[in-house]
Amino acid sequence: MKGLVLSAQWEPRSGYRVSPFEKSTGKAVEGFNVWRHPKLELVEIPQPSPGPGEVLLRVRACGVCGSDIHFYEHDADDYILYPGLTKFPAVIGHEFSGEILEIGPGPQGERFSVGDRVTVEEMVWCGHCRTCRDGFPNHCENLEEIGFTIDGAMAEAIVVPAKLCWPIDAIFERYADEDTAWEVAATTEPTCVAYNGVFERAGGFRPGAYVVVYGAGPIGLGAIQLAKAAGASKVIAFEVSEVRRRLAEAVGADHVFDPVETPAAAAVMDITHGEGADLSVEAAGAPEKTIPQMEETLAVNGKIAVIGRAAKRVPMYLERFQVRRSQLFGAQGHSGHGIFPSVIRLLGSGLIDNAKIITARFPLSRALDALEKATHREDGKIIIRP
Ligand SMILES: [Zn+2]
Ligand SMILES: [Zn+2]
Repeated sequence: MKGLVLSAQWEPRSGYRVSPFEKSTGKAVEGFNVWRHPKLELVEIPQPSPGPGEVLLRVRACGVCGSDIHFYEHDADDYILYPGLTKFPAVIGHEFSGEILEIGPGPQGERFSVGDRVTVEEMVWCGHCRTCRDGFPNHCENLEEIGFTIDGAMAEAIVVPAKLCWPIDAIFERYADEDTAWEVAATTEPTCVAYNGVFERAGGFRPGAYVVVYGAGPIGLGAIQLAKAAGASKVIAFEVSEVRRRLAEAVGADHVFDPVETPAAAAVMDITHGEGADLSVEAAGAPEKTIPQMEETLAVNGKIAVIGRAAKRVPMYLERFQVRRSQLFGAQGHSGHGIFPSVIRLLGSGLIDNAKIITARFPLSRALDALEKATHREDGKIIIRP
C-alpha cells in the first residue's frame, strides 16, 4: 500500500541534552531540536495487520493539520519546525476516519464489526500509568501519538488500538452524501481539541456569555461553533487570514476582525458594552500578541483557555487576574471525558457543521501538493482521500 512517510536524521542540536527517556525510546521530546534533514515521500509500505486489541482500518479521509505543515517546512539548519514528541520514520496524518477491515484478537475489538465506520483518537494513552489511572489520559506518561511517534493515516490503511475508535454513524445520518460524511468525520479530532479546552479544561460558560476566539484555524473554528452551540450570546473572532475570517463568519461568529487593523481589546470592550469577555480562547499560537489583549478584556470571573501551542514566555500582569477574579487554563489533547462521543453527536445534530470549513481535497497520490497548499495558510481544512 501507499503511505506518506516522514524520515529524518537524529542529530540533536549542539546544546540540546538528550534525556535518558529519549535515548531509551528513540522518541524526541522536543522534535525541532533533534530531527534534521526531513524527507517526506509517498512510498510503497507493507500493509500492517492488527495485533491483540487492534483493528485494521481502510482510511477514507485524513485532514492536514498545522503540525503536518511543521513537518513539511524546516528551518535554516534543516530541522523540522514541529516542537513536540516525535519518532521517525513514520507515516504522518492523525485526523481521520475509516472503515474497519479486520479485527485483531482479544476482547477490546469485540464491540466492533468488520465494516464499522469510525474516527480515532490521535493520543494513544496507555491506561495503566498514574495519570491515566487518575483519569487524565491527555497527560499519559507512556504516550504514543498516531502520525507523530507511530504510523499515521496519510496511507491507504492503518492499524490502531480498538480502544481509540468511535463510531460515526450519527454523522452519516446527518449528511446524505457519504463523501461529505467521511470528510466531516475526519474533522472530529481538531474539534475535540477545542472542546477539551473550552469545556473540559476551562469548564465552559453559562448561556448568554461573551466568548472571544483568537485564531480561526480549524481549532478556532471549532471553538466558535462550540461556543454558539452552547449558548454564547456573542462570539467575537480575530484572525489575520482573510479566507479564515470568512470561514469564521460562515460558521456563526457574530463579529470577525483582522487584529492587525482592529486592536482586539478596544473592539471586545465596545461590543461587550464594557463588560469584557467571559471566556477568551487562545487558538492562534501567538500568546505574546493575544494574552495582553485577553488580560485587558477579562470580565469579572473571566476565563482564558490556552489551546494554541507556542514555545514562548509571555509576561502577565497578575494583579489584573486578582482584581477581575479570573483564571487561565492550559489545555492539551482531546481524549477522555466523553469528548469524542459528544463532538460526534454535535456533528450529527448539525449544531456544528464542519462541512463548511473543508476548503480543499486531494487524492493520496497528491498528498505532497496538499501539504504545499497548506503552507500558504489560506485554507480551512484540507482533506486527503486515499
Ligand atoms: Zn492535528
Ligand atoms: Zn498512561
